Amino acid sequence: MLIDLHTHSTASDGTDAPGQVVADAAAAGLDVVALTDHDTVAGWPDAAAAARANRIALVRGAELSAQAVFEAEGRERHVSVHILSYLHDPADAPLAQECERVRTARLDRARRMVDLLARDYPVDWDEIAAHTEPGATVGRPHLADALVRLGVVPDRSAAFETVLHAGSPYYVPHYAPRAVDTVRRVREAGGVPVFAHPAASVRGRTVPDDVIEELADAGLAGLEAHHRDHTPDQVDHLVGLAARLGLLVTGSSDYHGAGKPNRLAENTTAPEVLERIEDMGTLAVIRS
Ligand code: AMP
Ligand code: FE
Ligand code: FE
Ligand code: ZN
Repeated sequence: MLIDLHTHSTASDGTDAPGQVVADAAAAGLDVVALTDHDTVAGWPDAAAAARANRIALVRGAELSAQAVFEAEGRERHVSVHILSYLHDPADAPLAQECERVRTARLDRARRMVDLLARDYPVDWDEIAAHTEPGATVGRPHLADALVRLGVVPDRSAAFETVLHAGSPYYVPHYAPRAVDTVRRVREAGGVPVFAHPAASVRGRTVPDDVIEELADAGLAGLEAHHRDHTPDQVDHLVGLAARLGLLVTGSSDYHGAGKPNRLAENTTAPEVLERIEDMGTLAVIRS
């Protein structure tokens, strides 16, 4: 039983349509796949239709942008984190409204980054919008693709290492709610909150264990320990921390189509963990 609980489509920053991601998941030999686009559930209907057509089970999810706020060395730190939400009610107003707020903030932020980039590169917002699925959650990957089309960089990864890096002069942050509030909102919407790639230092600063403990107190259900952005030592540490805090352990690919080297099923989640997630979530897993 192969279960991959973290993928992206053109509803956010993946390169394939939601139905294509699900079809490719079936072709990759997966029995269960979750679609977890950033801050949106727009891909769910297309993914559900493809799940039925391709005889693969679908977990409806999302990856929510948030920030952990904590004290370290006498200073208040704000670290960007991602909280996966599984099987929540998409009609829950507080959660849906917060996603909408983040998507709007991301759109505004992308336009501001394009304004800054346009001082040095011939990027054009209308050209980027034309290459973006209407209503999609916009992120730096969409700007990276524009830079690739212009020949400024060879691929998304190169863009993230240079002009789109969080330390670059073209970088602009965007609004995101506090992670403890996100965890509570997901629970109130009947969802199952799992901390995505909690130790992925390649993406920027990460949070100390006591922040994860606070999130667990707020209702966090699991840690995505098995992820390509973690070293073997980090995986061991997270598995131990999850055991200590009574959290589930998941593993996933974080597939983005052609936009990232991550391959479907490269990390997977145990069937008994999915059972627990399904027990906790308000929606059912779609099984054909
Ligand atoms: P943003 O949320 O707009 O700040 O952009 C971050 C997103 O870009 C993440 O969710 C990843 O999906 C993607 N990303 C981060 N690093 C890379 C990379 N090196 N190559 C491709 N995509 C990346
Ligand atoms: Fe992404
Ligand atoms: Fe993420
Ligand atoms: Zn992701």
